[in-house]
Amino acid sequence: MIWLPELEVYSAKIDEKTGHPAIRFVSKSLCHATVGADVVTLCLHACAYCYTKQLTRLKWEGESALPTATGLYEDLPRVLDKLFSENPVKYPFRYGVFGNVSPPYEFTSRLFSECLRVHLKHEYPAIIFSKVPLHYYVADELLKLAERNLLFVSVTITSFDHELVRFFEPRAPSPEDRAKFIEWCEDHGIPWSVRISPMYQGRVDSAEGIRSILSRLPRGHVIVEYLRVEYYKFTDPKRAVEVGITREEAERLVKVFERRGVKPWDEIKMGFKGWFTAPAKYALERMLEIRDEVNRLGFSFAMCGHYTKFKIQDYRDCCTGRHDWYMKFSAFWKPERAKDKRFVEFFTDRLPRTPLRLFRDRNTCLITEKTVEELKRTL
Ligand code: SF4
Repeated sequence: MIWLPELEVYSAKIDEKTGHPAIRFVSKSLCHATVGADVVTLCLHACAYCYTKQLTRLKWEGESALPTATGLYEDLPRVLDKLFSENPVKYPFRYGVFGNVSPPYEFTSRLFSECLRVHLKHEYPAIIFSKVPLHYYVADELLKLAERNLLFVSVTITSFDHELVRFFEPRAPSPEDRAKFIEWCEDHGIPWSVRISPMYQGRVDSAEGIRSILSRLPRGHVIVEYLRVEYYKFTDPKRAVEVGITREEAERLVKVFERRGVKPWDEIKMGFKGWFTAPAKYALERMLEIRDEVNRLGFSFAMCGHYTKFKIQDYRDCCTGRHDWYMKFSAFWKPERAKDKRFVEFFTDRLPRTPLRLFRDRNTCLITEKTVEELKRTL
């Protein structure tokens, strides 16, 4: 059966601002991946855990910050062209923020290929987060970018257990195809990492579970991130266009996961939002065990996610490990050359608060054995 979704085409504004709805500032404090875009919004891979679908659509300068229907950003290449020529401050630009190069691939991959060619034109570095074996679609562009050291790829694999994959990622490419993409990157000298994200507690977060994934891959860098189901209580009609999911809906979703052995859970509440995830103390203990197993298998390790109380990683750059992809480009930071007010804010205010800067002189695991004991007492 061929499945053809209905698609909207978004023609985004091109103006002086980087407030283009396709280009987002990803995170304020915890993440290296501070700026990025998607070619398609509301990805059609239909993952049960999709975080994007849990987000409440807030108003941004009078409009919805995220569209509420699936669509292509057809003018993204032109916007990037403008952005890169006006702001030649080279910092890896992320693809795979709130979406993926999702179906229908014949459209999205063509658009993505155009974006990558803009990177080539400006020699602007890209980091791609994806579940898609992109070498089937844009091999040429990927190879050219890699030749110029402008590309890093991070591939998500949550499990090779077909029952889990079918249920939780029904329309995403198979994990075998994703593993082939990693092998292709390895064979062609393209730096890559693998993300076990989300990591299903009780199903994958053990030495055995991790081995079942990593034993099928070449050695490299692995990032793990626990599953979370997020909800918002923020329903102010002046600010919110549409509520992602309510707390009751989030609870129901948690039960769906539980029925497939994904547990334990804890609830974290924070002002207008909250989320369900693995309990912090449990997560810490598991993360330490998993890191040992990951290292034993010859991989380097990092954890990603919202645990602001601890962070465990073998290298200062959690996304790319020894490749140090973000720091590598720090030499190009010239905030005074970024004309745009919001870019200036990005380089002078937000970026310095990322782990990149905070931990820039530390090359090893950010958590010591001593602090582990302290953490266990407080969590
Ligand atoms: S691939 Fe990513 S963005 Fe797409 S549905 Fe799955 S989780 Fe969401």
